[in-house]
Amino acid sequence: MTSEARPAIVWFRDDLRVADNPALTAAASTGMPVLCVYVLDEESPGVRPPGGAARWWLHHSLESLDGDLRRLGARLSILRGPAEPTIADLIDQTDAGAIFWNRRYGEAERTVDERIKASARDRGLEASSFGASLLFEPWTIRTGSGTPFSVYTPFWRACLAEPEPRKPLPAPEKLRPYPVDDRIGIGLDDLDLLPRHPDWAAGLREAWTPGEASALDALTRFLADDVADYRRDRDTPGIAATSRLSPHLRWGELSPFTVWHATTAARSAANAEGAATFLSELGWREFAYHTLFRSPAMATENIRGEFDAFPWPRLHPAALRAWQQGRTGIPLVDAGMRELWRTGTMHNRVRMVVASFLTKNQLIDWRRGEQWFWDTLVDADPASNPFNWQWVAGSGADAAPYFRVFNPELQRTKFDPHGDYVRRWVPEWDTADYPEPIVDLGETRRAALAAYDVVKAAQ
Ligand code: FAD
Repeated sequence: MTSEARPAIVWFRDDLRVADNPALTAAASTGMPVLCVYVLDEESPGVRPPGGAARWWLHHSLESLDGDLRRLGARLSILRGPAEPTIADLIDQTDAGAIFWNRRYGEAERTVDERIKASARDRGLEASSFGASLLFEPWTIRTGSGTPFSVYTPFWRACLAEPEPRKPLPAPEKLRPYPVDDRIGIGLDDLDLLPRHPDWAAGLREAWTPGEASALDALTRFLADDVADYRRDRDTPGIAATSRLSPHLRWGELSPFTVWHATTAARSAANAEGAATFLSELGWREFAYHTLFRSPAMATENIRGEFDAFPWPRLHPAALRAWQQGRTGIPLVDAGMRELWRTGTMHNRVRMVVASFLTKNQLIDWRRGEQWFWDTLVDADPASNPFNWQWVAGSGADAAPYFRVFNPELQRTKFDPHGDYVRRWVPEWDTADYPEPIVDLGETRRAALAAYDVVKAAQ
């Protein structure tokens, strides 16, 4: 292999896009041939393998990215295995001269990345990483006393006081391809990401089109049609008032920098309130990552240690199953859980209600719910999912106080007053076929508050 042929590797991870991809832009600007790779890593310790719905999304997103790269003259090579030895082998095999990636923020991922970077540099490669998935790198936003934030409002205020996030980069016009042959990579189908026996993904296919082009379409449509009324309508699950960008952001098909600048460019007197509220929701995503950076074990451990004393009763599997399958006899909860199963998503207001019902009325540990969401959401996110579960459960950063137990019936009458949402997912509601509630809301609320007394005593 001649030295001219040494490639610059671009290692794609949570950034499955060609526009505003600093790692791809850096590789293109070296003048070396560009070798684009994705590594499905289900083995590195602590790296959480994607759940079922996320795997479905990932398959289609990789397919779409490969198409976009081919239009630029390159292609995507797919690898599988623990990232560290897999990337090391690739470097050996291709005699790579450089490697670039965009950062990840989980502790296990950062450890893997640091080791790969150090060993690549030891071998004389140029190895660089970039900020591309967050508007504000988690370690850059600090309180006056230099500590991470544990409360959202001052966190977001501090972010807004920073210089404006950088402008998004255009996609490279052309990539000089590295001649990939059969020795490098496997077929996308070999990853076996799609459900086959049975194929339960029909509802996901109806609801979503993964990929960068569809992500940009969703953003454009939202800014043209819905941002003006976003503040008013975002809590009403019966109307499509939100952006539906979460899986696109989760997989990095769209960069938050693109979203930020498109939103500010579309801002007008008529939609200023909606635009600011929408950007503040992106702020919650930033805060979830800020919190993950500070509390790396938050998918499994209470952020507030006093919740370790919470007396979760013995799990009744049938109760968990009733929640998972949307058969609790509480209409808003059942509607949400059925929407999730069918489409891989659930309206934010309803996510809060079902999470409160599980952790408070059913007294089931938030980790069970978090795991179910991890497996069934197309936007299942290593920061936002555990962050929001702990927020509802009361054990999290800036969490809703535990004693604020959502009443799912009041939530339904307030946010779905005509029953549009509930009827869409629970057509048998109001008929004799619909089950009685599996719990008494008042009694279980009281039991939850009594259990919480143990936490208060541990404080
Ligand atoms: P929009 O209302 O249009 O908001 C724009 C974007 O802001 C979203 O795409 C998302 O990236 C971000 N955002 C909005 N609300 C939140 C929030 N509370 N926390 C973090 N980011 C937010 N969101 C995920 O992306 N992945 C998850 O795994 C996830 N799990 C959740 C679990 C629970 C129990 C709860 C209560 C919420 C969870 N959320 C999660 C947050 C929120 O429900 C979704 O981001 C939102 O419903 C996505 O719809 P949208 O894109 O139309 O949002």
